[in-house]
Amino acid sequence: MSFRLATIDDRAALVRDDAWFDLERLGTGAPADPMEALTDLEALHAADAALGDATPAGSFAEALDAGRVGPPVPAPSACFGIGLNYRSHVAESNMAVPTVPVVFTKFPGCLVGPRATVELVGPMCDYEVELVVAIGPGGRNIDAASAWDHVAGLTVGQDISDRALQFAANPPHFDLGKSRDTFGPLGPVLVSPDQVPDRDALALTCDVDGDVRQRGTTADLIFSIPELIAYLSAIMTLRPGDLIFTGTPDGVGIATGKLLTDGCTIDSSIEGIGELRNPCRQVA
Ligand code: ZN
Repeated sequence: MSFRLATIDDRAALVRDDAWFDLERLGTGAPADPMEALTDLEALHAADAALGDATPAGSFAEALDAGRVGPPVPAPSACFGIGLNYRSHVAESNMAVPTVPVVFTKFPGCLVGPRATVELVGPMCDYEVELVVAIGPGGRNIDAASAWDHVAGLTVGQDISDRALQFAANPPHFDLGKSRDTFGPLGPVLVSPDQVPDRDALALTCDVDGDVRQRGTTADLIFSIPELIAYLSAIMTLRPGDLIFTGTPDGVGIATGKLLTDGCTIDSSIEGIGELRNPCRQVA
């Protein structure tokens, strides 16, 4: 039982191999709205089970190339980012290893699709490939042992940052520096966790114009996905579709001096989940 959920033409869709299917038009009672779809995982699994008899709406690769694929979770009520959650990134940042998760907000308006153009502002925009968790059944005080039961799926995210804006204030305002329009590429699909073979040890990569920038594994997370869900849900109720950008490994531009430039392309991938390809354009 598994699914790969996408948003195509602003409607929920299921993807299998290279075929995509409009969720509502499968006729299994699942909704068209991508956020509503996340409120009933049983309905998503049932719809996925019906794909064998259904006629595909088209090729997913073609939909991607045509720019029809949006973020699989387009409008979460909350979108958390976790800072300094890989030891390698803590080291390159010359910071102490955190004893509690370092949490900031990516305002959901920054979310864009897997092929969207990232709009650069100023000379210090940076990339961070991240495993992103979407909450399914929400709740309060979720314990770590049952936290995976509250995960709808996993996807690839880019936590784009304007470092000049981030560090313009002291202490830094992470929220604003990471929330400019287009600063949250996400997708291409949300993969149900049961479909991910080794969900606690996934390889992440980020290249810019073919130049290797980041290589990591989620096995190196300081705070694991269950620990993050337990921590956040002890503070506030998590709702279906809420997102957690779980942090980035080492190799970010502010540490290496290689920041994003006008016309460059960011390629991000996570093993078994998918790939983002985002061109960048300087707009200010
Ligand atoms: Zn980040």
